[in-house]
Amino acid sequence: MCDEVRSNSEISRRHLLKIAGVAGAGALAGAGIPNTLYADELPPLPSDATPDQALQTLMAGNKRFMAGKVTSPNRTLARLQALGEKQAPYASVLGCADSRVPVEVLFDTGFGDVFVCRAAGNIATPQIIGSLEYGTIVLGSKVLMVLGHVACGAVSATLKGDPVPGQIGSLYPYIYPSIAQARSKDLNTVVAQNVRYQVDLLRNASPVIRDLTREKKLRVVGGVFDFHDGRVTLLDT
Ligand SMILES: [Zn+2]
Repeated sequence: MCDEVRSNSEISRRHLLKIAGVAGAGALAGAGIPNTLYADELPPLPSDATPDQALQTLMAGNKRFMAGKVTSPNRTLARLQALGEKQAPYASVLGCADSRVPVEVLFDTGFGDVFVCRAAGNIATPQIIGSLEYGTIVLGSKVLMVLGHVACGAVSATLKGDPVPGQIGSLYPYIYPSIAQARSKDLNTVVAQNVRYQVDLLRNASPVIRDLTREKKLRVVGGVFDFHDGRVTLLDT
């Protein structure tokens, strides 16, 4: 273990996590997780956690990331092996494919925590909706977040409407309605409206997701990630 630690503060952090893991081990048995936790693992949410608690857990990870206090939880091979063939991610996220928006990193999560779909412009295409239905009704995610980001290239290109190579233009129709709704050419205004539009789409175009939200088993939210400070800001949706 000494070889693994890098500083006194690191020793303390890992020790505390190990204690926390042991303390939470009892709750894990019912979740089918082996009664063994490693120092860099955090106990998963209990199966009866609410959608609000799932959202709080996700946002707490972003706060750690912003503060430079990441724990990089659940990233060991042991954690992966413990999941076996059963996964139960507490959150599903539809994010942009942009290389600056790695969902698992900015929410400080690891194996089995978040079911992530990414497409340029964080657009809810039929295939993406189908994937998110799988993440929610089958795998049991309790919160579904559409995550846009400042200075999104896909939204910017749609705003400009310039000729683009290949099939890049196939993204545009999914973003056009947001431009009309935003009544603005300001990029970040349209980014936020695009998040709201995709949230509406998921809530209304998918009976599966609509029913889960009506039954209070799922909460659908929208957020925007800012490169400047690493913050995810929840939108009023
Ligand atoms: Zn983007």
